[in-house]
Amino acid sequence: MLRKNIFDAVIIGGGCAGTGAALKLRDYSRNVLVIERKRIGGLIYYAHRVSNMPFFKNETGISVCRRMECFLIDSGLPVLFAEVYDVKKTLEGLVKLRTSEGDIITRYALFATGRMPVKYEKESKRIKYFHDEIKEGETAVIGGGEVAVSQAISLKQRGLTADIFTRSGLKNVNSALKREADMENIKIIHAGESLKFGESSDKVIVAYRAKDEEIILLYDNLLYSCGREPVMPQTDFNINDEHISRAGTVKKEFPSQCDDAFKDGEAEGMKIGLKLRGE
Ligand SMILES: Cc1cc2nc3c(=O)[nH]c(=O)nc-3n(C[C@H](O)[C@H](O)[C@H](O)COP(=O)(O)OP(=O)(O)OC[C@H]3O[C@@H](n4cnc5c(N)ncnc54)[C@H](O)[C@@H]3O)c2cc1C
Repeated sequence: MLRKNIFDAVIIGGGCAGTGAALKLRDYSRNVLVIERKRIGGLIYYAHRVSNMPFFKNETGISVCRRMECFLIDSGLPVLFAEVYDVKKTLEGLVKLRTSEGDIITRYALFATGRMPVKYEKESKRIKYFHDEIKEGETAVIGGGEVAVSQAISLKQRGLTADIFTRSGLKNVNSALKREADMENIKIIHAGESLKFGESSDKVIVAYRAKDEEIILLYDNLLYSCGREPVMPQTDFNINDEHISRAGTVKKEFPSQCDDAFKDGEAEGMKIGLKLRGE
């Protein structure tokens, strides 16, 4: 049934930006589809506590995701759980999306596909990117941003050990999160440029220099939490094409917060809505 329809707009990604866009677009058209490959809410799922979203103050990321899903269900807009592989122009000037559930045609497409963790160059089964991939043992968290601190707190609250190793300190971490890390007795090790890590057959090795002494520590897991990069399905569209646009963290050079992503989604959703009305 989906394949025969030509949608007014399709939003690729049901994270904060995609949800914001969908809720705004509903004011302009009911012929809108959200396509999400994993779960509504996107990366905010992994946040230990969300303090900056107006409707969801101090809820866990999991709870924010559930509530966003309810918003979408209540809005009456359909959600297709599928992966979008590529996005192409048709001869008629429409947009064709190739998805794991078949092809979909739309007048406008919005990429709200977010950012995924930057990968560590030496992949192995001990290297993880999301805290819920870690089931047991002691973890060295590498990174000094809010994502690293939030993930370490989540591990501690599950009764696991997590120490944070940072090269440049926690300059960009808000004070509420730092306080929580402190309350959970998370060790923050400022290792500077001396920080190195690698693996033996059964452990992760973390090494750094402190007061002219080389310190070597062993862990079961390494949670690599050092930045994120945009994820985009393949497309032959120029990104400034009038039929295709981007919203949320996928279009930012530096990852932003979920409230920013949501507002940006609303703004891009409104722009598409106005085009649909011919304004
Ligand atoms: C551990 C952690 C803690 C965080 N804590 C906070 C916090 O406390 N406060 C805060 O404001 N922000 C926090 N963030 C950041 C926040 O998650 C992001 O700012 C926000 O998720 C960005 O929203 P987005 O919609 O742009 O992208 P995303 O949330 O990444 O959503 C993109 C969605 O698109 C989907 N998608 C991608 N490609 C495709 C495809 N080809 N086909 C179909 N679907 C696709 C993805 O599955 C995903 O659901 C945290 C992030 C992490 C990882």
